[in-house]
Amino acid sequence: HNYTAEDITKMVKDENVEFICLMFTDINGIIKNVEVPVSQLDKVLANKITFDGSSIDGFTRIEESDMLLHPDLSTWLIFPWGEEHGRVARLICDIYKTDGTPFEGDPRVNLKRIIKKMHDMGYTHFNIGPEPEFFLFNRNEHGNPTLHLNDDGSYFDFSPVDLGVNVRKDIVLGLEKMGFEVEASHHEVAPGQQEIDFKYQDALEAADSIETFKLVVKTIAKEHGLYATFMPKPVQGINGSGMHINMSLFKGEDNIFDDENDMLSDTAKQFLSGILKHARALTAVNNPTVNSYKRLVPGYEAPTYIAWSSKNRSPLVRVPAAKGKSKRIEMRSVDPTTNPYLAIACILDAGLDGIESNYDLMPEVKDNIYEMSEDKRRDAGIVDLPSTLHNSLKALRKDEYVQQSLGKGLTNSFFAAKNAEWARYQQTVSQWERDTYMSQY
Ligand code: GLU
Ligand code: MG
Ligand code: MG
Repeated sequence: HNYTAEDITKMVKDENVEFICLMFTDINGIIKNVEVPVSQLDKVLANKITFDGSSIDGFTRIEESDMLLHPDLSTWLIFPWGEEHGRVARLICDIYKTDGTPFEGDPRVNLKRIIKKMHDMGYTHFNIGPEPEFFLFNRNEHGNPTLHLNDDGSYFDFSPVDLGVNVRKDIVLGLEKMGFEVEASHHEVAPGQQEIDFKYQDALEAADSIETFKLVVKTIAKEHGLYATFMPKPVQGINGSGMHINMSLFKGEDNIFDDENDMLSDTAKQFLSGILKHARALTAVNNPTVNSYKRLVPGYEAPTYIAWSSKNRSPLVRVPAAKGKSKRIEMRSVDPTTNPYLAIACILDAGLDGIESNYDLMPEVKDNIYEMSEDKRRDAGIVDLPSTLHNSLKALRKDEYVQQSLGKGLTNSFFAAKNAEWARYQQTVSQWERDTYMSQY
């Protein structure tokens, strides 16, 4: 909705809204929130609410710590929960500097920059259909999460085995109240694992929705006494949680990826070639945690090789059989720990590079990659995805194009945050090591 300031003022009154959450994300995609009482509404609408950016991960240096919140009025919505102290609404904000210019270190501002580049190339929409997966764990008597999965159902199971079904229904209802168009929800392969898919949206809206989605899932799971996590691989030995990204490029009503006589249009092939070319560096952004790489291993429906296919699900990119407006490509490596603003900006920009540079697209892989010998894979030019956060950071270091998609400030803070995370992990001695080495040596 394209709400005006007057619309917002009216809705605040009509709906008895008492508080407004002004939301944005830090570099890790964690939602940050400045909550103001409605008495501050005029200040909110005049873009005059400030906050101290120096305390937010990846934001700013001490000497320029005052930042301004510019709410995007189209993101207005009222939360369907927490009415005991009056209703709470939210607005998603862009971060501005006190000199009145947008702050390049804000992931949402950066995504807008790449979307502008897309518009300048003549495309109007980058449609994103995400497939976020998550686990539901039981809580203990203190309310803390346990490792007990909420059910032992599996793929597309139906109740009574699928205990997740009631929670999922409530989550779907909550999402619908908030304006989501939920297309499908089902039990995933692993016990306790769920997936809810919502209808594709344009890039910026989709990134906003993914952030809101995670908040809704966690909040409603909590109301059911459960703990929802988007951690990619919470339990070893069973599937992890991904967030497949379906994407297509539109000019007005026309899906540029569609071609009546071919599996993909020429532009779609060019776009795909850009994604494959930058795939290793993109992995750092799309799979930004140590744990992300415990999911990207063979045997659990997650990709480990850079290749594409219309026939099977083992490669990085799949081309589903859909036609017309639904023609799309599906990137299967992405997991829900990614900051969606960064991921979508980098994927889009890699695709645009493919269109501009017209790289050769590697041939489609028709066999199951996991069953191919190493020689056969090498002959087919199939390279693997980075196997650790450390390796993907090295790949990002080598790929100046993807660094440019993040911009200088975000690149620097990304490396600062992630190198530190890797160092902390690397210095941790795990139980596995003690079990394996202590008695052996
Ligand atoms: N859970 C799988 C993953 O880690 C994906 C399963 C599916 O195909 O939806 O990516
Ligand atoms: Mg799935
Ligand atoms: Mg999928």
